Amino acid sequence: MRRKLLFGNWKMNKSIEEARAFAKESHELKKFADSINVEIGVAPTYLSLAAVKEENPELNVAAQNCHFEDHGAFTGEISIPMLKELHIDWVIIGHSERRTYFGETNEACNKKLHALTSNDMKVIYCVGETLDEFEKGLTKKVIAKQVEEGLKGLSVEQLKKVVIAYEPVWAIGTGKSASKEIAEDICGYCRELIKKNFGAVSEEIRILYGGSVKPENVHDYLMQANVDGALVGGASLKVDSFHQLIANIAK
Ligand code: PEP
Repeated sequence: MRRKLLFGNWKMNKSIEEARAFAKESHELKKFADSINVEIGVAPTYLSLAAVKEENPELNVAAQNCHFEDHGAFTGEISIPMLKELHIDWVIIGHSERRTYFGETNEACNKKLHALTSNDMKVIYCVGETLDEFEKGLTKKVIAKQVEEGLKGLSVEQLKKVVIAYEPVWAIGTGKSASKEIAEDICGYCRELIKKNFGAVSEEIRILYGGSVKPENVHDYLMQANVDGALVGGASLKVDSFHQLIANIAK
């Protein structure tokens, strides 16, 4: 049985003090989530990682990106050993905003996935089609390329450290969420691709939906057989809203 996972992606939001304040309140959130067997986590900016982990060492805390090299001349980047120093063991890779605004490719994601999973880090690997691709009926073609190129060459043991997040780009931050049927169809397709490439381990891999998930729709998504949780942007920023997301899963 795959445990449901609810992860908040804070993007470029919250000062260090605001992130710390959320983390102080996250003890109650985590207790509540544990009580209904839901796993939770948040991805603050790099600057707030230490504060959030310090306030709640039990909370899953993810970086929103990292480099695949350990050190070197990569201005503006941070590395896996630096994250480990802060006791951070989750990283989001390939978010559509990284792909769109910072030119992140499947090949770069693949290098990061290799580096992270061979260093015992957990990864949320994001895939998703643009509106244009969706309208042209190219969703599955795009997803297959992102999944297969991103996960290429990983061992089954490495793959076990990966969570996939299907996030249609047209649904992120737009308020326009995909239907639960689309979410189930594409999350199920991701599982088929993993089965084809890696075998029976596909049943263990968690696949999340992301894109305008809110307290009002989270239940519908998470009731789908192949949707094992959600990656949430806007609705994860406030403690009350995060609490409501957890509460509505159990409804
Ligand atoms: C995201 O940032 O991954 C996301 C899904 O954002 P939102 O929930 O705001 O659409």
